[in-house]
Amino acid sequence: MDVKDYIRTIPDYPKPGILFRDVTTLLSDARGFRKAVDALVQLHVGDAIDLVAGIEARGFILGGAVAHQLGKGFVPVRKKGKLPWETISQEYELEYGTDKVEIHKDAVFDGARVLLVDDLIATGGTAEAAVKLIGRAGGNVLGASFVIELPDLGGRSRLEAYDIEVLSLCSFE
Ligand code: 5GP
Repeated sequence: MDVKDYIRTIPDYPKPGILFRDVTTLLSDARGFRKAVDALVQLHVGDAIDLVAGIEARGFILGGAVAHQLGKGFVPVRKKGKLPWETISQEYELEYGTDKVEIHKDAVFDGARVLLVDDLIATGGTAEAAVKLIGRAGGNVLGASFVIELPDLGGRSRLEAYDIEVLSLCSFE
């Protein structure tokens, strides 16, 4: 089985007309989880990066495993109001309204080369907010890797505009 075969599609979640790509079926399968993490690690083994950042919440599961395998530290990019110390925050647009992601002010050191990991890139709005946040903290996102890409929604070009290498393990048209 390929990574894509472990992903379950849920129609009409969270809203009518949306096909939600559910990675819990990949994560709970020993082979599926290992395949996905190994493939993400293979894309970046030997890369000159200092830290892996993951976006709450599924990016923590995947990014944490990737960071561990690459022998790098992990930075959680969290939803607003979750971090205990001084934070910087970045707003991003949702279909209706806005939301915020946050990191600690000292989460990345000046000049840190960061790999961003999440389960899925759609419009790229969430990942772009994380890129801006890490940039404002003094780091530099060099690569962004995802298990799933929805190419029709254009997230890739949004990140490539920052000179970020965007990679994904599978896509759903
Ligand atoms: P974007 O900001 O690129 O439009 O949306 C990506 C973010 O929303 C990611 O953090 C991702 O976890 C979440 N997301 C949006 N749609 C889906 C989906 O169909 N499946 C999963 N697993 N996550 C999604």
